[in-house]
Amino acid sequence: MKSSFRPTLVNGPFQDPALYVALRWQGDALLFDLGRIDRLNPANCLRLSHVFVSHTHMDHFMGFDQLLRLTLPRDRELTFCGPPGLIDNITGKLAGYTWNLTASYTFRLVVVERHADRLTRAAFRASTGFAREPLDDVAAPAAELVREPAFRIDTATLDHRIPCLAFCVSEPSHLNVRTDVLEARRFVPGPWLSRLKAALRAGDGACAIDVPVDGAGTTRATAAELARDLVVEQPGQRIAYVVDTRFDAVNAPAIVALARNADVLYAEARFLDVDRDEADKRYHLTARQAGFLARAAGVRRLEVFHFSPRYQGMAQSFHAEARAEFTGETRLENEEGWVADLLPAPARRDDQASARRR
Ligand SMILES: [Zn+2]
Ligand SMILES: [Zn+2]
Repeated sequence: MKSSFRPTLVNGPFQDPALYVALRWQGDALLFDLGRIDRLNPANCLRLSHVFVSHTHMDHFMGFDQLLRLTLPRDRELTFCGPPGLIDNITGKLAGYTWNLTASYTFRLVVVERHADRLTRAAFRASTGFAREPLDDVAAPAAELVREPAFRIDTATLDHRIPCLAFCVSEPSHLNVRTDVLEARRFVPGPWLSRLKAALRAGDGACAIDVPVDGAGTTRATAAELARDLVVEQPGQRIAYVVDTRFDAVNAPAIVALARNADVLYAEARFLDVDRDEADKRYHLTARQAGFLARAAGVRRLEVFHFSPRYQGMAQSFHAEARAEFTGETRLENEEGWVADLLPAPARRDDQASARRR
């Protein structure tokens, strides 16, 4: 199956974080953070429907002006989502310019802040000179941020001495119809398959479906009966994005839960592990800690980035350190006891068994 999400880091690993995720089937795209975004071509900027901002330190947010400049003359709505304070930050950005010639523009910004149990929202229209219009709050369960037909976004609020959001974008699971079963039963493919999938997605197993049978009229069965051997559910793609946070007993479990079984985890690694103390003080991860989080979450692939410029020319050291911990060649749990609880149970049992053998 072709992947629906195509993620690309906009910049090199020593430059500002910005992850561009193209949604293959919709033609839209999502952007996670927007430090410098000069390398993002204008056509790709115009495909953006949502921008997710982890926090508003400059290296994650200064591309706002550039993106606004590009999209302003367009008939678009752009949604920004981020931590508490984002509406004020964007109000401040917009107040820095003069808007006397935009009355005929249709461009609109919607800004959504993730609070503990709700989303606070505001809109800004170019046609009114970006006057702030409060929108009603929306109740939202702890992790959920956006739910669209093609994707959903979950978040975890991490501690970077300020709240910093980590994100996971996932697509709905695929419901694949087994053609061998269709043929064996002489079921004729048609719109009933869409009705069957819709019923299954809605959790309506009792829904009656009329199925045309080759040479034998139709037969009626419930969605649950048909699903039993006709439909195979395959999990959708998941991409997690984690930046600017400290490796501690509160943040680490939150990251592992968010990134669980992701296809790719994009994780910051500001420091190498020799500078672990400094990483702690500055509320950042080391490459090794990123590797451990990826292993604990059982992700398929890890991409580390956002390296401190002090290590310029040492990118390979970051990759090697992260890889060694991700593959279990080095084991942080042998040095920091509390982290063992984050590993999946079978891995812990293996460790205990090998400890007993030793
Ligand atoms: Zn930061
Ligand atoms: Zn940063």
